[in-house]
Amino acid sequence: MPFIVEHECPQCGAPVELEETNRLFRCPYCGVSNYLFAGDLFRLVLPHRAPDREIIYAPYLRFRGTAFLCTKAAIDQRVVDITRLGLPLDGIPLDGIPLSLGFRPQAMKMRFVTHDTAGSFLAATLSSDDILDSAGAQTAALVARDFFHRAYIGEAVSLIYLPLYREGDGLCDAITNKPLRSLPADHDVLAPLMDGNPQWDLTFLATLCPHCGWDLQGERDSVVLTCSNCDTAWQACDGRFVEVGIEVVPGGREKTVYLPFWKIIAGTKGGLDIGSYADFMRVTNQPRVVQEAWENRPMSYWIPAFKIRPRVYLHLAKQMTVSQEEFDRKDGLARLQLYPVTLPRSEAVQSLTITLADSIMGKGKLFPRLPEVDFTVTGSSLVYLPFTDAGGELIQEQMGISIHRKTLVFGRSL
Ligand SMILES: [Zn+2]
Ligand SMILES: [Zn+2]
Repeated sequence: MPFIVEHECPQCGAPVELEETNRLFRCPYCGVSNYLFAGDLFRLVLPHRAPDREIIYAPYLRFRGTAFLCTKAAIDQRVVDITRLGLPLDGIPLDGIPLSLGFRPQAMKMRFVTHDTAGSFLAATLSSDDILDSAGAQTAALVARDFFHRAYIGEAVSLIYLPLYREGDGLCDAITNKPLRSLPADHDVLAPLMDGNPQWDLTFLATLCPHCGWDLQGERDSVVLTCSNCDTAWQACDGRFVEVGIEVVPGGREKTVYLPFWKIIAGTKGGLDIGSYADFMRVTNQPRVVQEAWENRPMSYWIPAFKIRPRVYLHLAKQMTVSQEEFDRKDGLARLQLYPVTLPRSEAVQSLTITLADSIMGKGKLFPRLPEVDFTVTGSSLVYLPFTDAGGELIQEQMGISIHRKTLVFGRSL
């Protein structure tokens, strides 16, 4: 379940509310659109109700996404949604501090940590992998230790801070004002755990095309914004907009929606050697005769650039990748109905191995070689493919692949 963050419009100061995955917001008061960046990850605080005390914030790592696991001869997938204390409890005297935040992030409106958030912060020393290992242990399918490959896709990783304060010789929860544990009187056990000099801030960027100055278009959860004036697309990256190469496949119907896919050109070495489309067809043992022209066609992987149910995501990636359809191309994004890009290119790159794995016909035989598979990406672009809007489903105009609208709606909430 997503949570709500309160903030102020950087232009006019009016209060605005954002959902967890919202990056683009238009202020309802002054009408200015801004795009939100955080350096490494978003940091949020739960509001405290403490009496006049110095607040000490304890970090919780929050992960939402899909885990894909290649086991003996199949791929398991499930949605992971976990929030856990970002400190190892063994070896440090912090028992009494809750391991999880329960429903608090959903029940309370949070705020971003900025340079004027008062208080001190305990350092998060666990990585999201540590947290996910514990997440893996919670679910039967992921508990398997004998997997050949694991990927976490579409993640929203953030840090949520729980406010605490010292009271007498103890530590209190600053939301409930209840004591959590006592602290030794003779030395300060919290001091060595503090984050020395946190310099976290948020960047708000006006959504103007860096190329021509027009307003960029996108939706609240878009990770790529487009300019219909100069036909460019821009990915948010390190506090600025970086241009993304786009291709548009022409659609012939009246009710056409253009769905974005990342086309990633990549070769593999190690466990399975694949350079060309012909290699791919041979290695994965597809029941099609390899044509001579395929020997010189660099292998590209087609990954949905939008969040969707994990099973559908993997299925679409496999269908598009195996068929390597040679589409026509057209110019221009103007007046096209574009479906928002909600999955960044980096996540698509992380999906290459599972896409290859899912394409393999003899999984039992080849899966043991997956751990050595090593991809080198040599190019990528964002391809908009036309889908006819047939009410309950969207049908790809050249290939006939259909996607249920419900799975797209579900994907927006991932
Ligand atoms: Zn405003
Ligand atoms: Zn432009």
